[in-house]
Amino acid sequence: MSEKIDTILAAARRHCDEVIRPEVDRWNAAGKWPRHASDKAAALGLTGLYCPDELGGQGLSLGDGIRVYEELGKGDGAYAFALSMHNICSYAVCGFGTEAFKKKWARDLTSGRKLANFALTEAQSGSDASVMYSRARINGDGTWTISGAKAWVSLAGEADVYLTVVKTSDAPGHKDMAMIAIPKEAKGLSFGPRYETPSYNFLPLSEMYLADVTVPQENIILPVGKGLQGALMAIDIARVSIASGCCGLMEAALDTALSYAKNRKMFGGVNLDLDGILWMLGDVATELEASRLLYRAAANALGTPQGTLLAAHAKRFVPDAAVRAANTCTQVLGGMGLLKPHGLDRLSRLSQMLRIVDGTTEISRVVIGRALQKRAAGLPGLPVPKGFGET
Ligand SMILES: Cc1cc2nc3c(=O)[nH]c(=O)nc-3n(C[C@H](O)[C@H](O)[C@H](O)COP(=O)(O)OP(=O)(O)OC[C@H]3O[C@@H](n4cnc5c(N)ncnc54)[C@H](O)[C@@H]3O)c2cc1C
Repeated sequence: MSEKIDTILAAARRHCDEVIRPEVDRWNAAGKWPRHASDKAAALGLTGLYCPDELGGQGLSLGDGIRVYEELGKGDGAYAFALSMHNICSYAVCGFGTEAFKKKWARDLTSGRKLANFALTEAQSGSDASVMYSRARINGDGTWTISGAKAWVSLAGEADVYLTVVKTSDAPGHKDMAMIAIPKEAKGLSFGPRYETPSYNFLPLSEMYLADVTVPQENIILPVGKGLQGALMAIDIARVSIASGCCGLMEAALDTALSYAKNRKMFGGVNLDLDGILWMLGDVATELEASRLLYRAAANALGTPQGTLLAAHAKRFVPDAAVRAANTCTQVLGGMGLLKPHGLDRLSRLSQMLRIVDGTTEISRVVIGRALQKRAAGLPGLPVPKGFGET
């Protein structure tokens, strides 16, 4: 397996150097998903990372496959994010889809001929996903009819299928949630105006409207009762993937700063001779090493009892470190750091976006906080001082 992951990582590195880095500014200027680029990524095997060989995938473990986004993130974090979501959806289809659905879709997804994305968020609720208005009615013939609206759908109108989380009753809570695959051509499916996102303008994002969209039973990916639980599992993988992409972003920022500072003459030497600059960049380097160790440990823990907590630690720590890295490296270049060709301003905005998507930093803190409360419950209590008159 180690030979396979080495080959895939080398391919991802090449894709970053030959396609993403030289083209990303043009993609942003054009404001269009670069399908030719994702087709090239697909040809390198980057679109079926965790799916089995027999369905056309690479059969990599999550622990290995997630490292791909570190390579892609050196070029662009939003592109790495979109491919990571496609890979998670493909994994869900191959692992949980019905035989009929897999027969129709799995090979198209693993080969990247078709792209997939995930639709959970709604306009009224991102962090609190249990407040959901999208509803599926289960018809007598087993088909499902879905009505509602999703928000912040990545690859909106570009992906060929959307794994959509819906409720199947009006009861509060998540016990009636399910995940159903809705193909782009489904009658009644449409998309709202694109959100304007200048720093990753090539990633189409918009609302997705579902007006009595009917799909067959075979499209159920996660049955009633498993929708939110499955979505949260997917989100754990997404959180670690984002942390991986952030490490690539930090490395790109650091290399830009080093390449500039070693040439920028000042005070009889160069910028990189100054202790203050070396300390700033040294902190970035330390945080990059720590981030890498953390996301890799989290990736290896996915699917184990520690998986969710480590994913939360990674999502809590690494995007924050990436924001600091991008801003510090901008500072090292002085005014030049703000100019477009160096790309640091783009990296700052991307790192901020990566703090929000797939569960904000604060939501990761909530997950970590709950784990701490559980841990506290298992510890002996220490005596605490009593107030005057307290019994
Ligand atoms: C670029 C991008 C792409 C996306 N792609 C997709 C996609 O493809 N599919 C999809 O389903 N969704 C997608 N999302 C949505 C994303 O997952 C949500 O934006 C995210 O979950 C946060 O939700 P929100 O934006 O509604 O913020 P809100 O939930 O409104 O949160 C607002 C603020 O409150 C804070 N907060 C919330 N709860 C707590 C708490 N308990 N304690 C302290 N603070 C709290 C948050 O951290 C945040 O700072 C995307 C978002 C972005 C930015």
